[in-house]
Amino acid sequence: MPVLQDPLMIVTDLDGSLLDHHTYSWQPARQWLMRLKEHHIPLVICSSKTAAEIVPLQQELGFGGSPFISENGAVVRYGDAQAEQTAQFSSQDSAAICHTLLRLRQHDGFKFTGFADVSEKEIAEWTGLTPALAARAKMREASESLIWRDSREQFDLFRERLDEAGLTLVQGGRFWHVMSKGSGKGAALRWLLEHYPSPTAQPGQRPLTIGLGDGPNDAPMLDSVDYAVVIHGYSKNPVLLERADKQHIYRSAARGPEGWVEGLDHFITPS
Ligand SMILES: [Mg+2]
Repeated sequence: MPVLQDPLMIVTDLDGSLLDHHTYSWQPARQWLMRLKEHHIPLVICSSKTAAEIVPLQQELGFGGSPFISENGAVVRYGDAQAEQTAQFSSQDSAAICHTLLRLRQHDGFKFTGFADVSEKEIAEWTGLTPALAARAKMREASESLIWRDSREQFDLFRERLDEAGLTLVQGGRFWHVMSKGSGKGAALRWLLEHYPSPTAQPGQRPLTIGLGDGPNDAPMLDSVDYAVVIHGYSKNPVLLERADKQHIYRSAARGPEGWVEGLDHFITPS
């Protein structure tokens, strides 16, 4: 089992993981966050949230400037503002994606509501976020989130049409997310690990990664880390991992940030 002195990197989902699904509180994880900070262990947020939502949260958590993966893996960002070592991982930006969605809706009559179709007031009602935070959720760079309002058959056709347009659908905790094919939390994390020199690791050395997530959309990320914490979530669909090393997978009993703490307690031996 890893110890705090190892070249660790924590990769975490937000909603339903580090943040409570209902209240968005991270307070139960406070002590662990302080411990990570003390040991200069990077906390890499890997979320369906936008950069505009993640950056202020990083500050609040005390991890400002850490690399992050936003919009379900459509965007990867690391390095400080001066160095501008940022990357848009996805090949299509939100404007191009929304343009395709509009075209498909006109052509095939699909019924769905995207973030681009509504005001921040409506997004606030869907999510329980304040209108100011909902406005940040709307600032999408390389994906679009939507609520599906049509039949199963139409959904299958929609998926096919997106595929033809070079796009893919990922199911998050509350919404479906449309993004470029080949992006996603797992692909984005693998890209980051190749490019980001972790402060806890020797040059050229890969950090020891612990991933935490509660949804099926976290599975590709949880398959790409060294140790995976599957947090007890609310999704009807189970989080199915492809990895065979069962001793490196821990499924928490508690939900949200309490489950997050339980996972780190399980894998990291206090020294
Ligand atoms: Mg989640």
